[in-house]
Amino acid sequence: MTPPASRQICERCGNALAELDASPACPACGGLLELEHAPPDDSIDLRARFAARRGAVAGIDVSGVWRYRELVLPTASSAEIVSHPEGNTPLLDRAAVATWAGIEHLLMKHEGHNPTGSFKDRGMTVAMTQARRTRARAVACASTGNTSASLAAYAAQAELPALVFVPAGKVAMGKLAQTMAYGALTLVVRGTFDDCLTLARGSSAALGVQLLNSVNPFRIEGQKTIVLELLEQLAWDAPDWIALPAGNLGNTSAFGKALREARSLGLIPRVPRLAAIQASGAAPFAHSFANGFAERITVQPETVATAIRIGAPASWDRAVRAIRETNGVVAAVSDEEMLAAKAVIDAAGVGCEPASAASVAGVRALRARGVIGAHERVVSVLTGNLLKDPESLVRYHQETEPAPAGANRPVEIESTVRAVERALDTFLGARGLRAG
Ligand SMILES: *Cc1c(COP(=O)(O)O)cnc(C)c1O
Repeated sequence: MTPPASRQICERCGNALAELDASPACPACGGLLELEHAPPDDSIDLRARFAARRGAVAGIDVSGVWRYRELVLPTASSAEIVSHPEGNTPLLDRAAVATWAGIEHLLMKHEGHNPTGSFKDRGMTVAMTQARRTRARAVACASTGNTSASLAAYAAQAELPALVFVPAGKVAMGKLAQTMAYGALTLVVRGTFDDCLTLARGSSAALGVQLLNSVNPFRIEGQKTIVLELLEQLAWDAPDWIALPAGNLGNTSAFGKALREARSLGLIPRVPRLAAIQASGAAPFAHSFANGFAERITVQPETVATAIRIGAPASWDRAVRAIRETNGVVAAVSDEEMLAAKAVIDAAGVGCEPASAASVAGVRALRARGVIGAHERVVSVLTGNLLKDPESLVRYHQETEPAPAGANRPVEIESTVRAVERALDTFLGARGLRAG
């Protein structure tokens, strides 16, 4: 059987490019590109095929991305694929989090369980595979965190030189550590994130380096599998809502595309509603949604959640389409709401990075406004791992004055059993538990 063909289509002018064209944008109009795959043969039972691959112990079927390859990149051969593997993230049920959000049926899809700690790995395995197929000399990204760690890891595996542009003094320590450890050339640029992106773009064009930032259409294809995998985990019984944090809007776009395709292939009979949640200090998409997307807005972003600290989201148009097609909503939550949600998620033994908690804080806010019903089934996507930014975590628990709800300070003691007993008494007392 010959694999079905795939093409890249310009979202703006409809120009079609060959799948293996390595242009970063439409050569005719500069618009963003989108992958389009010929639909699989009608006689194929995709659900059965995906299910059969779940038990694999070796090869590309072990990947939670490539197991869905008919919808991701059907023409890639096993030999071409650069897979860690990735995906296979858990769908968690924690009563304490559901109760806090005011929702009966709340599940958390934890993308922080990916190899480098965020969902970026799902997009990166596909983009890196494509970079190797198109014989890239080197790969690059501008990032303040998760993308750089993911790029560095997958480039190491692909044996491609990697360049990472980061703004001086603006990178989470955990992520910088990963990027250096995986062996990327880490360029700390004296400038802002925007300067880094401009420099990365310019250098890519001049030096023949492929830029694997989030507008790369192959990353979108990989990120679609967050939705495919969670639907499969629910036996294709779609929830009423899927909530996710929204920054550059690549993931919102990917979720919309995944749902559109899952519906048209008959994998699900109806599409869940998307709830894209921004930080109130970086909420251009939420403001625009409130006006029926009448205009494209940019803001000067400010939030503790660095992963969604974006004022001019790149994947705007395709995210608008995702929200419209799913009858979705866009909302904003304050840093305080996000950190309160994070404290509840962390204390439940789950843990996530600050941006991820927006997806639970947003559900609580939408529940309070009556947008989400108490009996509706909701999946919140936790996009990244607890340990992305250990410094801000320590600051929250140890240094913030006054101590926020849920702060869990370390207690310094003399080295005596008596001191341990006193500390334990206080600890149990504060939780309404009796000592002894
Ligand atoms: C990249 C990222 C986001 C934002 O996703 P976009 O596609 O930029 O909207 C949210 N959370 C985490 C942890 C991320 O790494």
